[in-house]
Amino acid sequence: MPQLGFGVWQVPDDEAETAVATALEAGYRSIDTAAIYGNEEGTGKAIAASGIARDDLFVTTKLWNSDQGYDSTLRAFDTSLEKLGLDHVDLYLIHWPLPSKNLAADTYKAFEKIHADGRAKSIGVSNFLPEHLERLLGETSIVPAVNQIELHPHLQQRAAREFHAEQGIATEAWSPLGQGKGLLEVPAIVAIAQKHARTPAQVVLRWHIQLGNVVIPKSVTPSRIKENIDVFGFELDPEDTSAISALNEDRRLGPDPATFDVA
Ligand code: NAD
Repeated sequence: MPQLGFGVWQVPDDEAETAVATALEAGYRSIDTAAIYGNEEGTGKAIAASGIARDDLFVTTKLWNSDQGYDSTLRAFDTSLEKLGLDHVDLYLIHWPLPSKNLAADTYKAFEKIHADGRAKSIGVSNFLPEHLERLLGETSIVPAVNQIELHPHLQQRAAREFHAEQGIATEAWSPLGQGKGLLEVPAIVAIAQKHARTPAQVVLRWHIQLGNVVIPKSVTPSRIKENIDVFGFELDPEDTSAISALNEDRRLGPDPATFDVA
């Protein structure tokens, strides 16, 4: 799985086609969408039009909450594949754990079937707290390849990252730039950016890369799409990474997975 990919949350279907095409042109090879984003079709059209060999691409989509359950998962997966215009995805994720519904294990058993059939090369979860993962690991066979969670300098998720590492689960950071809301103006980050003649977004993405996180920044602005993948030609020194580590506030931008149950 490429360590840096392109996210398309909140990008309308027609704009997603253009944005994904721009990202593929800029060199991204991993795309993160979801059934609930309503842009699997636009994403699929851009992939088809790119002419890039399928084996060179890594496509992730996610099962929405209202489709949790064994049979409904199988149906929802068929719909996603059809919209994407693909015969397999590289990664299929349960979007939220929904602990109050208690359907994650049944849902994941359908994921294991999809994986066995070769239609999802790997399977995983999103927004699972360690307690949700522990339960899933006890009830299913395949260790999730990935847990995609909210993670940025204001929410560094140290306990979750450690738990994932122990279990052999990759940590993927959603909203890696903190949704661009304030994080990119934090003086410590601006100062590090000036020091390296880079942008604050590049510094934050580089911090993730050096920590070992998979990142999927989103932008619909071509210059930013290019900027966000151009993070492999410089390195943060220990002084920079400890200044960023000190920014943790355990502050979520999104919902709390323990209670989020919107279907
Ligand atoms: P992000 O942290 O990637 O921030 C995106 C925003 O930051 C943009 O809309 C723009 O305003 C700004 N931005 C982007 N590049 C910039 C740059 N170079 N300079 C200045 N500002 C810049 O936020 P996100 O979109 O919430 O998260 C990324 C992806 O993560 C999503 O697109 C989606 O694929 C995924 N995601 C998953 C979940 C989940 O529940 N699994 C939830 C949210 C997001």
